[in-house]
Amino acid sequence: MLDPGHGGKDPGTRGPTGLTESEINLEVAVAVSQILKQEGFSTFLTRSGDHYISLNERIALGDAANAAAFISIHHNAPKAAASKTPGTEVFAQSGDSESARLAGLLHQEVFDVLKTIDGVQWTSRWDAGALRVVNSEGKDAYSLVRRPETTNALIEIAYLASPSEGTFMAGDEYVPLVASPLAKAIRTFLTTNQDGTPLLERARIHNPSGGRTICPDIALE
Ligand SMILES: [Zn+2]
Repeated sequence: MLDPGHGGKDPGTRGPTGLTESEINLEVAVAVSQILKQEGFSTFLTRSGDHYISLNERIALGDAANAAAFISIHHNAPKAAASKTPGTEVFAQSGDSESARLAGLLHQEVFDVLKTIDGVQWTSRWDAGALRVVNSEGKDAYSLVRRPETTNALIEIAYLASPSEGTFMAGDEYVPLVASPLAKAIRTFLTTNQDGTPLLERARIHNPSGGRTICPDIALE
């Protein structure tokens, strides 16, 4: 189950060319779905057009389908610092080793492809990687990660709101470029026991007063 973030009245973040996160999330999810379908996997999208769908509906679709994996696809917004490497972040569900494995594979494959791209000025947080994000009670901060029964991960591929990255994402080569490693990670997750990037040992503490650190409106509940 591929879950393109945002949509309809909720465009998510916006890039320097006017490209919205909801558009690029959907384009990437559709491209990943096409690759996996060609390989014989059954894939579903939580939305296939530019319409609003609640977090509850997204989670229910994955769980009702008994999906082998539920992957939310997002693009990030600053604040992040200039970096030599992409700031790809993938969030895993606490206490679920298969979610950690899925997050690690998604991170490794996407990061390894993006870092080979020349001419893009990347941005990153210092603790980017495959990680958990928890609230002050130690529970997973994002309901899209905490609540699915399905093995899940949420990827912030890179920073759409950064001028250089966002311009690159609006070009024709971006979607096929990232769809391939995303599909590879999902295929590897489903057909092997391989691990990817190890989960960071320490969880990030979500700080609601600390400013906007991810694409807007991944609601907490
Ligand atoms: Zn988002």
